[in-house]
Amino acid sequence: MTEARPLRVAVIGSGPAGVYAADILTKSKEVKDGEVQVAIDIFDRYPAPFGLIRYGVAPDHPRIKGIIGALHKIMDRGDIRFFGNVDYGTDISLADLREHYDAIIFATGAIKDATLNIPGADLDGSYGASDFVCWYDAHPDYPREWPLNAKEIAVLGNGNVALDVARVLSKHADDLLVTEIPDHVYEGLKASPVTDVHIFGRRGPAQIKFTPLELRELKHSRDVDIVLYEEDFQFDEGSEKAIEENAQIKVMNKVLKDWLEEQKQTEQTASRRLHLHFLQSPAEILGEDGKVVGLKMERNKLDGNGGIIGTGEFIEYPMQAVYRAIGYFGSELPEVGFDSKRGVITNIEGRVTGAEGQPVPGLYATGWIKRGPVGLIGSTKSDALETVTHLLADRENLYTAAKPETEAIEEFLDSKGIEYTTWEGWHKLDDHEKSLGAASQDASGEPRKRVKVTDRQEMVRISRS
Ligand code: NAP
Repeated sequence: MTEARPLRVAVIGSGPAGVYAADILTKSKEVKDGEVQVAIDIFDRYPAPFGLIRYGVAPDHPRIKGIIGALHKIMDRGDIRFFGNVDYGTDISLADLREHYDAIIFATGAIKDATLNIPGADLDGSYGASDFVCWYDAHPDYPREWPLNAKEIAVLGNGNVALDVARVLSKHADDLLVTEIPDHVYEGLKASPVTDVHIFGRRGPAQIKFTPLELRELKHSRDVDIVLYEEDFQFDEGSEKAIEENAQIKVMNKVLKDWLEEQKQTEQTASRRLHLHFLQSPAEILGEDGKVVGLKMERNKLDGNGGIIGTGEFIEYPMQAVYRAIGYFGSELPEVGFDSKRGVITNIEGRVTGAEGQPVPGLYATGWIKRGPVGLIGSTKSDALETVTHLLADRENLYTAAKPETEAIEEFLDSKGIEYTTWEGWHKLDDHEKSLGAASQDASGEPRKRVKVTDRQEMVRISRS
């Protein structure tokens, strides 16, 4: 039976996970066949939409940033509303949402750094990769200043975030002017005295978590040499098997071996170097007067099954900064079950579960906060489909909102004095950022495509103007 009113759904988070979930819901068979109508509002704690793509993807990755174009198109249709600058837990509670919506989908992602439990991890000069990413992506809640005074820098981890961080740290700032980085990021990177960035993987080249495109890209940085170490290229049976069975690992190992050969035959003359080390685990970040001065790594050997065994042999490197890119971690949300080991909302295939493991009616999760911070942006779509399918299957028991009227949520936000931003407001901010870009130039004198506005109040002011 078709309900007389639309099913009202709130999505918390306007990153790819949230927007894809909203889009998949509006395009579902049930909606298309007229069995159910939906009215979807997406909330975000930031004044601008797009979450991870705006504040997590590296600025020199225009292809991935281009996903914003696809999300833009979805939102431009006008059938999904956007309420930015509204923080779940402070501006709006679960009870408030339940009053206005029949179902709530949490798509809040993962922005914190996973913890590295080694001595020295808290020293001045030891940084979480996510914090640095938020700095160079001009996240409104992160400081404008970033201490870039190290000549030798370590990046721990062998995932794509490690590559992003190492690439941005080693690139010449002028080569980033073609991107949307704001002036303070350009100035910070321009003044950096860095000469050597060392990426450390605890396992071998056959166990890397990079992806081929991102690995190859390292070679494209101007005046940066890649340095590899022959002793790291030992392969046990498990590694040979991984190379044989995994096409990506196979391609990347060929790339690395080609680079190693090239390095033997060509003199390296660049002013900056990017070193790739394998089979070394961080044992201690060394400090003096509270500041990072070095890194102690333990040499590992492979155990035959893709794992590693520490050899008890230690190597010390002089380093003035260490970036920990060992994975992200989700943040707990008020009144929603949380698995503090995995950093995800407790859920069964996207249905949020309570303390006894039972599904909580009307609550759903999707994206990294549902399954953990792994996978490329595209994998968020299948994830959203699973969550939305369950939501639609549950729909007969939803329709519980006491105030389902379209304007009720705006009245609520206004009554609380919340300066929310809208999709129309995003267009204003978007135009403004593009005009800032057009008014400035990159290193070759070309106008820039965009310069990001960083200040939260300024973003709100422009959006609401
Ligand atoms: P990730 O791919 O899970 O990589 C984490 C790395 O940290 C792994 O190499 C892991 O080693 C290492 N690690 C974990 N704990 C460690 C420890 N205690 N000591 C030393 N190393 C440790 O995570 P990520 O790099 O944060 O990326 C998250 C997701 O975002 C991934 O799916 C990634 O592909 C995606 N992403 C994509 C792009 C892009 O497409 N350009 C950019 C950024 C991120 P083990 O393998 O041994 O556990």
